[in-house]
Amino acid sequence: MKKNYLLTPGPTPLPPYVCKALAKKIIHHRTPQFQVVLKEVEENLKYVFQTKNDVYILASSGTGAMEAAVANIISANDRAIVIDGGKFGERWTELNKVYGANIELVKVEWGKSVDPKIIKDILDKDKNIKAVFATHCETSTGVSNDIEALGKIVKDTNAILVVDAISSLGAIDIKTDGWSIDMVVSGSQKGLMLPPGLGFISVSPKAYKLVELCKTPRYYFDLRLSKKALAATDTPFTPAIGIIIALDEVLKDMRQETLEVIFARNKKLAQSTRQAMISLGLELYAGKDSSDSLTAVRVPEGIDGEKLVKTMRDEYGVGIAGGQSQLKGKVFRIAHMGFIREKDLIVCIETLEEVLSKMGYKFEKGKGVKTIEKLLG
Ligand SMILES: *Cc1c(COP(=O)(O)O)cnc(C)c1O
Repeated sequence: MKKNYLLTPGPTPLPPYVCKALAKKIIHHRTPQFQVVLKEVEENLKYVFQTKNDVYILASSGTGAMEAAVANIISANDRAIVIDGGKFGERWTELNKVYGANIELVKVEWGKSVDPKIIKDILDKDKNIKAVFATHCETSTGVSNDIEALGKIVKDTNAILVVDAISSLGAIDIKTDGWSIDMVVSGSQKGLMLPPGLGFISVSPKAYKLVELCKTPRYYFDLRLSKKALAATDTPFTPAIGIIIALDEVLKDMRQETLEVIFARNKKLAQSTRQAMISLGLELYAGKDSSDSLTAVRVPEGIDGEKLVKTMRDEYGVGIAGGQSQLKGKVFRIAHMGFIREKDLIVCIETLEEVLSKMGYKFEKGKGVKTIEKLLG
């Protein structure tokens, strides 16, 4: 039996205790038994989100939570700033279009982070902006945006700050309350080491006022229902019971390990991977704006990027991600979040060297592995 490694930026590998929790018998959700789980999950979610705000759990992928944010805030013709520097920023743009927002589009060159001053200037001029939609870690480009700076800018305006933290929550530091983020959106299959199927959204009191005023029709993703249910330790509809039971275990594990330790590990994995890539003569797509959640690397000239990813996966059992949209075939992406550890990255880089070498890329063989082994100690 072949051993497979998964280093994609979602889904990420499941720890054995998660698989075990997922194999448990199903229980009914409107029972004291499930309420115990839900209560514990709510409390520990606040720890991971670093917030005192409510965190609602949706039965959807991360995009469902993004849609919930827009549907509960944006009424037709509302002014909204959308920061769009990649595939997932584009998703904010598309969602805002669907819900009829009058968009102030801040296009950011792919591979770069947004300059917070641009947002400040728009907010200074236009007091009617209702919300600023940002992406923390832009998973398509490997860029990390300065959410703390955006929080400081948006905080004292009428607008709220909505952040897609789907690939950053539980992976790199994001302080919901400390950075004044009104809505933090996430999903289960990245930093949280679970299968896909849960969406999360935290809502500040400032944001909840907009939820109540919003004229957009809503049903499944109506956050007013989520709030009411949560107050009674309940959910509006049948939750993804099995994944929530596994989430309970994940959150307890993360709380025990502490966010500080998790973030420090991912940072070390990311820094070491970046150095290893540079030692192979490869170029980081995001340069100085690189996120510690994942590393995006330019495919060298003359190498077929899609074939590289496919060969690593199908012939060597090492799963990494290729590029999306305009980056198809042009980058490959390696994740550092969740249950990814030192040894996984060493195997990944060893395989990458092997396949790059077979494909004709010229470099000093073994240098990447040597670099990462030295840095990981
Ligand atoms: C993965 C991801 C999404 C999409 O989440 P789904 O769970 O696939 O719906 C959105 N934004 C970012 C930043 C992501 O990494």
